[in-house]
Amino acid sequence: MKIIRNISSMQKYSLKCRDKKKIGFVPTMGYLHEGHLSLIKRARKENDIVVLSIFVNPIQFGPKEDFEKYPRDFKRDERMSKSAGADIIFYPSWKDMYPEGYKTYLEVKDLQDHLCGRSRPGHFKGVATVVAKLFNIVQPFNAYFGQKDAQQCIIIKQMTRDLNIPVNIKVLETFRESDGLAMSSRNSYLLPKERKAALVVSRTLLAIKKNILSGERNINLLSVKANKLIKKEPLARLDYFSFADENTLEKITKLSGNVLVSAAVWIGKTRLIDNFRIGIK
Ligand code: AMP
Repeated sequence: MKIIRNISSMQKYSLKCRDKKKIGFVPTMGYLHEGHLSLIKRARKENDIVVLSIFVNPIQFGPKEDFEKYPRDFKRDERMSKSAGADIIFYPSWKDMYPEGYKTYLEVKDLQDHLCGRSRPGHFKGVATVVAKLFNIVQPFNAYFGQKDAQQCIIIKQMTRDLNIPVNIKVLETFRESDGLAMSSRNSYLLPKERKAALVVSRTLLAIKKNILSGERNINLLSVKANKLIKKEPLARLDYFSFADENTLEKITKLSGNVLVSAAVWIGKTRLIDNFRIGIK
């Protein structure tokens, strides 16, 4: 496995081989877990070359967010990505990605303002910008993302469509711990009692899913139930619990069509997100 730190070396490599070989790309911020590895393994199956990027993107963090303390362990990531089948780790520095005088940012209107965009203003501008840059550098045929970050997936799909970027966006299921907690690098922040409390997120979503599957269609009632379940957990503070149109991310008042049910919950100082999609006739 190769490690490429230099942007132009990565781009030259990709431009040279992209006509003959399919490049599968997995962008990450590192501190890998099984969720990331599931993306690498899928990319391995479907492409000739698998590129993983590790870049903690400063412009997607708000001034009071956890950029500085975001977990990093390159050696561990290197071992894990190699065993999952990556060929290349692209590991640029933020000074190279955003040199002095950098001025270009991408906004995906409307989609960026809902759900996580409300409590993290500017976050998706940072995400769209870095992903577009990474696509230009890595020149992938396929790029792999996780459903856990549902809004991110929808924004990236819209961006690649709007900018005619020739890449297939593949979204893979959320990988979970055996007790249901969605895997996340940020789970490493959780103290043991917070780790237990964090289960309230997946448990609440599952309870709501079961209610819908057994015929409940009243969003107000379902919202009240979700709020109650989360309130029961003393270490949890709800940021949002949302029923949204899966394509527009707009809040819905009636359960029909393709619905994204998602939640963001603070457990102590850690903000966790999770969701499920459901098609309703
Ligand atoms: P991150 O390093 O958190 O930016 O995530 C990099 C990629 O891995 C994103 O496409 C995430 O959606 C995806 N990812 C993160 N957690 C999971 C998970 N539990 N299951 C599947 N994919 C995930």
